[in-house]
Amino acid sequence: MPIPTELVGSLPRPMKLQEAYQKLDDGEIKFEDLQELQEEAAQDSIKRLEQTGETYVTDGEQRESSFATYPITDTLAGTGLADNLAGDGQFFAIFDDGHHRQLPRLTGGPFRYKTFASEFVEKNKQAASKPVKQAVISPSMMMLLYPLDEELEGYSREEFLNDVCDEVEKDIRRCFEAGAERVSIDFTEGRLANKNDSRNPWTGRDMLQDFIDLNNRVLDRFSAEERKNIGIHTCPGGDNDSVHSREVPYEKLLSKMFELNAGYFLIQCASESDKESVYKLVGQYSRDDANGVPQVCFMGVINPLTPEVETPEQVKNDLVLAAKYIPVERLGATDDCGFSPFSRDEKPAHGSPDFARDVAMQKISARLEGTRMASEELGV
Ligand SMILES: [Zn+2]
Repeated sequence: MPIPTELVGSLPRPMKLQEAYQKLDDGEIKFEDLQELQEEAAQDSIKRLEQTGETYVTDGEQRESSFATYPITDTLAGTGLADNLAGDGQFFAIFDDGHHRQLPRLTGGPFRYKTFASEFVEKNKQAASKPVKQAVISPSMMMLLYPLDEELEGYSREEFLNDVCDEVEKDIRRCFEAGAERVSIDFTEGRLANKNDSRNPWTGRDMLQDFIDLNNRVLDRFSAEERKNIGIHTCPGGDNDSVHSREVPYEKLLSKMFELNAGYFLIQCASESDKESVYKLVGQYSRDDANGVPQVCFMGVINPLTPEVETPEQVKNDLVLAAKYIPVERLGATDDCGFSPFSRDEKPAHGSPDFARDVAMQKISARLEGTRMASEELGV
């Protein structure tokens, strides 16, 4: 079988759409007006991804406030926030360029999603002629909505985590029911968990094992057959062309991450200074049998944070080298991250999000062609 390839999920939102998010926050337009522009951008994403020949298509997350907050708020500024949440939670991440992203704060129970990703899948299925995938957020990211140190009155941490697992399970099941063929879980907080950033207390609490255990509580509710198509995405962040945790030694995460009983992994690698050592670690720690499923390792061969387009030759060479360490039947190719996980992202290294959207398509085409060339060279 040729080496499989898959995108993470998001694409840059057109500037016109980003401005509409702002106008909704400012009360200048209605939610329906925003939705019209989201729809237009989503249709365009699907059409353009299909033109590249991408295996599974997405709407580029054009309808989502972000990869992490789509279930609980309509905009990043908190317009349309779900019940029992306030806007002033902890920082999710502080990025290398100094900007940060903040999560809402849970004020009481119960915790419920207001939007499930299956709503997007249903719409995308109607527009697409190719198979559809959907990215969803991890239970471990939702875990950060609960205050770090206090217990909420009348709603214990354990009750909350039970609710989180139920909501995430529903989110995944409903995506499959709506016709998604693949569902990947965004787990960008994994590497960040070992950052020990004094400005961001949760990153100093050694939470990685708790994250993995919580995510496995959800994964273990699915059969091996279902888990073949449930993935985990890891990265050091990707927002405004900046990262949050690339300096954290990768082995701290990779030595633990494959404890997750997922059938595939979308692993940032193209932007690493020593890619070969990452292939080695992935080969060393990934498993042939994770409770009944082999772990297929999709290595990042494209960096979505730079405007320079990788060549198919570069992609091919990366994959051929990766195959020295990762069994080729468990090797895949992906991008290091979504191209724009947050709805407000001006893509400064690119000059504009509209240009970055064009660049993303060229990068995806290079990944597809390079992966084809690698399969040919490796004889698979
Ligand atoms: Zn990512």
